[in-house]
Amino acid sequence: MIACKQVAKALAHSRYYELPWWRRIPMFAHIKLCVMCGKYHQQVVDMQKGVHDYLVHEDVGDVEPQVHLSDAARKRIEAALKQD
Ligand SMILES: [Zn+2]
Repeated sequence: MIACKQVAKALAHSRYYELPWWRRIPMFAHIKLCVMCGKYHQQVVDMQKGVHDYLVHEDVGDVEPQVHLSDAARKRIEAALKQD
């Protein structure tokens, strides 16, 4: 199993959906099995997933107007995700 530190590093430096599958699979296995860091990293993954889903819907153009983020809000979220 990969180490907690490797999971933290991978999630800090890239979004999980940008990682190749051979890095994603051991990372998800770790998050599911590790009681130490799993809960925290699951939240990070869920947040990244939310942003990713939103960006996909925005590209397709089917985002409901009432859930539209302003450019400033989106940049804030993106900046927060990129923080180490
Ligand atoms: Zn861990």
